[in-house]
Amino acid sequence: MASTTSTKKAPVHQVEKPVRKAEKPVVKKVNKSASAMKEVLAVASEIYPLIKTGGLADVVGALPLALQACDVHVTTLVPGYPRVMTAVRAQTQAKVLLNIGDFFGGSVQLWSATIAGMDLFVLDAPHLFEREGNPYLNADGQDWGDNPIRFAALSLMGAQLAWGEYSELNYQPDAMHVHDWQTALAPVYLHYLGQGKHRPKTIITIHNLAFQGQFPAGLFPRLGLPAWAFSTEGVEYYGCVGYLKAGILFSDTITTVSPSYAHEITTVNGGMGMDGLLRALHARLSGIVNGIDTEVWNPATDSSLAQNYDVSQLDKRAVNKHAVEAHFGIPHSDAPLLCVVSRLTWQKGMDLLVGAIDAIVAKNVRVVILGSGDAGLEATLYAKQHQHPTHVAIHTGYDESLSHLMQGGCDAILIPSRFEPCGLTQLYGLRYGCIPVVTRVGGLNDTIIDANLAAVNAGVATGIACHEVTADGIIHAVERLVQLYAQPKVWQAMQTAGMNTDVSWANSAQLYKQLY
Ligand code: ADP
Repeated sequence: MASTTSTKKAPVHQVEKPVRKAEKPVVKKVNKSASAMKEVLAVASEIYPLIKTGGLADVVGALPLALQACDVHVTTLVPGYPRVMTAVRAQTQAKVLLNIGDFFGGSVQLWSATIAGMDLFVLDAPHLFEREGNPYLNADGQDWGDNPIRFAALSLMGAQLAWGEYSELNYQPDAMHVHDWQTALAPVYLHYLGQGKHRPKTIITIHNLAFQGQFPAGLFPRLGLPAWAFSTEGVEYYGCVGYLKAGILFSDTITTVSPSYAHEITTVNGGMGMDGLLRALHARLSGIVNGIDTEVWNPATDSSLAQNYDVSQLDKRAVNKHAVEAHFGIPHSDAPLLCVVSRLTWQKGMDLLVGAIDAIVAKNVRVVILGSGDAGLEATLYAKQHQHPTHVAIHTGYDESLSHLMQGGCDAILIPSRFEPCGLTQLYGLRYGCIPVVTRVGGLNDTIIDANLAAVNAGVATGIACHEVTADGIIHAVERLVQLYAQPKVWQAMQTAGMNTDVSWANSAQLYKQLY
């Protein structure tokens, strides 16, 4: 178990086709308006559609737009990775706000820009961020050795913006919202270095407790924190420097991305070494389920689909099913088509899928897999494809457009996670009438209504829950899928209930507003 994992090891995703609302005029709002508008500084290491390795980027990209409707204005501080700087420089109204001679070993600029409707501060620090590819990994798939410094720099800039270090910016946010270990030092800097200065409310969101940002103690002197910060009441964590631990400690409010996960991380089994701290701070901890961008994920307008449809035209999904079969090179059939769109990892239960796949095929259910990750799992799944060429197909790599088509054409999506802080793919499945088959953990538990008899009779079932997180649990769930699929009225009622579920950010944005 990756309880001490330092940095997120996920493939970088070349986001090919940002589909967002029309660009709004580029107006840098560095001032809180005279109205009741709340001003929030978000600090994050990735943001859709500019740079994404997982659900974190989706959340950081979508939440500001949803909050606009709640009178909350968000400006997001992000690193100036090459792709981000290219997008910034392409904006005629982007401008340099600050020039700083030495910031963690090199000169940096702070830019402002508005891209895809999002107001951004961009930390252009070539010595830290001018590296192609994955934000966290080098070409060999290893963490960049200076990751702790790169993200300490981002966090310090966040803290400085929050406390109003640069008076020329005339910027004083009401709240600072940081995400995951990469930006967790921002509230820590605010605590130790921002004494007597403007103090916005601080919120930290844990998207995945497995990634904790734990580094050797020898790093500490380079962080610019006072010596007394290296203590159990500070950044010290099991003899190391713990970014996420310290960020949790010094934030006013701790959120995670579902109520069930908020509970799970306070238990010994789910707490990954931090359960004691989180139990002690449980009064500050809550779970808010992620929404999705319902414009990007809209089957009625999605240009990645072979055929658009809405909830009243479920039969049109058949065209997309043909397109998925053609893409994966499996023959057309009326048998259920189950998909997986996922990192291929232990967390996501992909080894459990391997254990279940022969039994799934024996029930005449086809499985198409889009994902990348663990090389051993990839190889095993290719072997399964070889073994069952008409029923199993895998496409490795990251393909945003294909992921949309799969949601629009497959009958169901399997998400057998061992733990799942929130999960997004089940929400896309709901929106596209692709029935989620899930384990009962974290956000999967909070967003899917299992098709038990009572739920089916009440017409509220939206998915199928595995009774246990094992290969047998998956097989049993697929048996139930086959039975439900054989009853078209029941199946369509589930699709309809899912498609009518509100998976937008509207409700969750209100909850975040209350925290700010
Ligand atoms: P996590 O962030 O833990 O990987 P989530 O379900 O929260 O899992 O988010 C995963 C996101 O990445 C979703 O938007 C999903 O569609 C997308 N995704 C994962 N793997 C792929 C892939 N191989 N190709 C395209 N999209 C993918």
